[in-house]
Amino acid sequence: MTTFAPVLQLNNGVGMPALGLGVYQSPPEQTVPAVEAALREGYRLIDTAAAYGNETEVGEGLRRSDVVREEVFVTTKLWLTDYGYDEALRAFDRSLAKLALDYVDLYLLHWPVPSAFDTTVAAYEAAQKLLADGRVRAIGVCNSGTEDLTRLMERTEIVPAVNQVELHPLFIQRELREFDARFGIVTQSWSPIGGVNRYGGGADQGTDPLRSPTVVDIAEKYGKTPAQVLLRWHLEHGLSAIPKSVKEHRVKENFDVFDFALTDDEVAAVDALDGGRRGGPDPAKVRLDSFS
Ligand code: NDP
Repeated sequence: MTTFAPVLQLNNGVGMPALGLGVYQSPPEQTVPAVEAALREGYRLIDTAAAYGNETEVGEGLRRSDVVREEVFVTTKLWLTDYGYDEALRAFDRSLAKLALDYVDLYLLHWPVPSAFDTTVAAYEAAQKLLADGRVRAIGVCNSGTEDLTRLMERTEIVPAVNQVELHPLFIQRELREFDARFGIVTQSWSPIGGVNRYGGGADQGTDPLRSPTVVDIAEKYGKTPAQVLLRWHLEHGLSAIPKSVKEHRVKENFDVFDFALTDDEVAAVDALDGGRRGGPDPAKVRLDSFS
């Protein structure tokens, strides 16, 4: 029997699975089998982005699986160079054509750009238009701090449904999570198992949460893996998490987290690993040409 992830209610009533598959840095040729494996396993959320270069393969994996489109929650993201109203609408059309879908479940702005805020607002207004036209079921942002969100909400109509941010035990974003919750915004964790700290290799026990003795001890207690403990930690916090893997056994492992739960003390012990250290770029410093 297939087990599914719990569903989180977004602020517009749409349901989003709490656990999904991320595909950042998944090479196109490995993305199709990863998506197929995930859907076979019970995943019903796939997180891609225009910038990942694999929207075509995400759509292909979806079509090759036995799961019908309506049962899968597909997220994609608008890249910075396409910010602006008309630019964003055109970029959305391109994403949809690559995915070969006729709607997207969640459309996110990939980064706030404080130095080009009007352009960011215009991009969000385009997302609002897509929502009004029924071409996306929910809209939101990524990498937004409390100031970014406050400024955006002052200038736009629709409160983001999701804020997807770097979040793992070494960077637990307590204040931001509380802020999101106050506005009914679901916080979604990217790099939920600390992937960002391993991008360039060279992570050690202090920077790789998978190797933290606290996490390893809890994993041993439950006969689970460190990755499963970390994903359980996100779920205990009511977060959505989107671990990435292109390896079928890890895609399976990362979803096999619904037969155990962490105690409050264990959640607190993992919380205590927080060093307030971001592994990825500081959103406050992102500019339109930051990643080019
Ligand atoms: P993750 O925390 O998901 O870690 C992924 C890395 O860990 C990969 O190297 C993967 O390798 C490895 N891995 C996966 N499962 C296991 C396991 N069970 N045990 C040991 N290693 C494992 O990091 P990501 O940065 O990929 O974040 C997840 C997703 O979040 C992205 O794929 C993307 O969808 C999204 N994201 C969004 C961002 C944004 O700005 N909005 C920024 C970054 C990510 P392998 O594939 O070889 O298994």
